[in-house]
Amino acid sequence: MGSSTAEHRASELRQLLNRAAHAYYVLDAPEMEDPVYDRLYRELLDLEMAQPELIAPDSPTQRVGGAPAQGFSSVRHRIGLLSLDNAFNSLELEAWYGRLLKVLDREPSTALPMVGELKIDGNALALSYENGVLVGAATRGDGEQGEEITANVRTIGSVPLRLQLAHPPDWLEVRGEAFIPDDTFAAINAERGTRGEALFANPRNACAGTLRQLDPKVVAARRLDFFAYTLHFPDGWQAAPGDPERPSSQWESLQWLQQAGFKVNPNAALLPDLAAVEAFFEQWDTGRRALSYATDGVVVKLNDLRLQDAAGFTQKAPRWAIALKYPAEEAPSKLLRLTCQVGRTGVVTPVAEFEPVPLAGTSVSRATLHNADRLLELDLHAGDTIVVRKAGEIIPEVVRVLPELRPSAAVRLELPHTCPECGSQLVREEGEAATRCVNSSCPAILRGALRHWVSKGALDVDGLGSKLIEQLVDRALVHSIADLYRLDGALLSSLERMGSKSAENLVAALGTSKSQPWHRQLYGLGIHHVGEVNAKALAKAFPSASDLATAAIETPEAITAVYGIGQEIAQSLQQWFATPANQELLTVLERLGFSLAASEEELRSAAASSAAANLSGQTFVLTGTLPSMSRSQAQALIEAAGGKVSGSVSKKTSYVVAGAEAGSKLSKAESLGVPVLDEEGLKELIAP
Ligand code: NAD
Repeated sequence: MGSSTAEHRASELRQLLNRAAHAYYVLDAPEMEDPVYDRLYRELLDLEMAQPELIAPDSPTQRVGGAPAQGFSSVRHRIGLLSLDNAFNSLELEAWYGRLLKVLDREPSTALPMVGELKIDGNALALSYENGVLVGAATRGDGEQGEEITANVRTIGSVPLRLQLAHPPDWLEVRGEAFIPDDTFAAINAERGTRGEALFANPRNACAGTLRQLDPKVVAARRLDFFAYTLHFPDGWQAAPGDPERPSSQWESLQWLQQAGFKVNPNAALLPDLAAVEAFFEQWDTGRRALSYATDGVVVKLNDLRLQDAAGFTQKAPRWAIALKYPAEEAPSKLLRLTCQVGRTGVVTPVAEFEPVPLAGTSVSRATLHNADRLLELDLHAGDTIVVRKAGEIIPEVVRVLPELRPSAAVRLELPHTCPECGSQLVREEGEAATRCVNSSCPAILRGALRHWVSKGALDVDGLGSKLIEQLVDRALVHSIADLYRLDGALLSSLERMGSKSAENLVAALGTSKSQPWHRQLYGLGIHHVGEVNAKALAKAFPSASDLATAAIETPEAITAVYGIGQEIAQSLQQWFATPANQELLTVLERLGFSLAASEEELRSAAASSAAANLSGQTFVLTGTLPSMSRSQAQALIEAAGGKVSGSVSKKTSYVVAGAEAGSKLSKAESLGVPVLDEEGLKELIAP
């Protein structure tokens, strides 16, 4: 990056982050997702590290948290209350550890014991005790001065008002995290919702907002909690006999705090080396989901307090500790281009392509934007910085843009008016969200149709991947599904990355595909709304393409009479079969050797299964617990076989199906002489 661009970028980031930090720390109403803030903060930090002359006094990297808010008197901390440096992956963790060893003048491979603690997503507090009595409590503020909130902190039940020590020191500083448990957080937001007040973005902001309430009664009602994690003693202080000894490590500090009456998070662990740190981090990635409070990482602290002293602090954070954060599910990225995908039904989907970002464990670089309306709603401009989200297994999405980081004079992005594949005019029907290419010979539509035809659930042709399909369409070797069956080995083996062996195999696979069952052929045609399940139901009711075509065009009510098939599907079938190009396709496929109908064997097995499924006219009552099926499974089984399930036993009941602990229904069945079946009996009746 050129120095003037870097300077511009640094100033842009400073402004944006400072505004976000104000909203976050002072107003308790964040404007930005935390991981997005973290990523942009890191970008600024990297710029400043590469070019230290870019560091400005107002840079958010130069200060801790926010300035004390108005409304509370500010109090100077006896000992600075700093933030923590972050590591987002194991490389950064190792880099931190390497720096620590260097500062301590240790060999690079030295293993120093550490303590792993959960990083509670709350607010740091400094508590002051004099002669064992709580005399002051303050927020972290800017690290040097915080807000004096003693009255509010007194309402937190887990903060001892008096230490459980026979001989407390003259003064003692205890640091820890005030937090709001998840259920209380949900209740607070629900209440705010009913009062029409803005909701808190997360438990941390709710906690910060609560600690800054002017009325301690409101704080008391919110049931905050507190975990203690560090403490500071007067120089040279030693415990009197009978009291716990002055700790010399972080691990002992946690025990000491507990003995003095504090609540300490029970999930801390003493970790002998970095490998143990990583295992602890991984263990809590899943473990934390079962906790009743929010955590956003783990904090790793050097165990030996003398070594902590020797390592010291940077301007913002201790060198002897690091916060390891869990993988973000949101991140900012820079939009590179907007492309369009044309699907096999001609639907045009805008796709955002952006600089790759690691999200929820994978690298993400594109996300679909669904349709023209979504594009408009996002107000996407060329070169925009976007917020991308990928939660767990979920498909990545663009959440919003950060207009503050938009390049000047950037143009607004829209869907093109013509198809990017074939150049024909795109169409958007009234009331439809989708924009389509309606040129049936558009290469993108053809490619999609071919991919679908050969896919697993359809004709399942091995050896015909997307790349090969692309070549076949681009070279105009294939203009329809039927053309695939005219390809010969010689032609195929002249294509890129095709040997004569794979060409032969492909021709053979195409040949075999002709005997796939009728429902797969129907599904493969790619008729709108006819997925695998519908294709099966339709193929069963209409054993050939001509039966289905006649019904679709002449008696659509016969189509909707099929279980699970509605009006929309009937219309789509009608349209498809009425289209001359599709009729032509069916004729050609038949000529090529496709039956487009159920084989005798398919007909026989369908007949056998419908005979077996003949429970029609029979009524069943279920009672008790069946050994391997739930009630609803048993009901589905009976209904699929044509039977009915009723709730009460009468003389008309055909069978009562009884499981363990069957109740009065069983005795009634017995008294009325209704036959009783167990699960096995039911299965036998359905499929003898
Ligand atoms: P931090 O939250 O990353 O880490 C420091 C804090 O961790 C401590 O102050 C303490 O409160 C807490 N902590 C929890 N458990 C601890 C333990 N066991 N031992 C020690 N400390 C423990 O740093 P920060 O400076 O408080 O704030 C940065 C955070 O605030 C980032 O996550 C950032 O995303 C967020 N932030 C967000 C915005 C926004 O606009 N969304 C703006 C500013 C800051």
